Amino acid sequence: MPAVSGGCLCGTLRYALRGPPLRVTLCHCRFCQRVTGSGHLVEPLFNRDDLRLTSGAPTVYRHRSEGSGKFIDLHFCATCGTTLFMTFERFPDLCGVHAGTLDDPACIVVRPETAKQVFVASARPDAVLLPGLNTFAGPAMDAAGRPHVPRVHEAPHIVGRRDG
Ligand SMILES: [Zn+2]
Ligand SMILES: [Zn+2]
Repeated sequence: MPAVSGGCLCGTLRYALRGPPLRVTLCHCRFCQRVTGSGHLVEPLFNRDDLRLTSGAPTVYRHRSEGSGKFIDLHFCATCGTTLFMTFERFPDLCGVHAGTLDDPACIVVRPETAKQVFVASARPDAVLLPGLNTFAGPAMDAAGRPHVPRVHEAPHIVGRRDG
């Protein structure tokens, strides 16, 4: 993968990534909905050492995960509010980049071998789930790290309303 870069809306914060993502999570949880202000987060996960700030210093908001009780640090721009990436107490070697902050978001490719959809139980009724991906109602694993059994849609799937 050629050098990949990204940054915040106002340009104060810039980062570079020197390796490809390990995997990609498409997350529909309420946390990711609030953080992005959108329907879901496209989150390529990188080795934390592969992300380097090339301009500016992010402000950090530390949030305790409802699910795991562990801290998640959101690294954002104090000027424009863009969240660039997050790091995890539970997974200290990883960082989750907010794909919309990449200069070329299309450099992140969603493939069945390396991508999954999670927390689709809280997805918007108009969300469309991709076929062929391991798909989970909640997290992909339990608190002890044991994997849950995924569902795989054979065709694009509209979540729909759950209240009738
Ligand atoms: Zn900014
Ligand atoms: Zn999430």
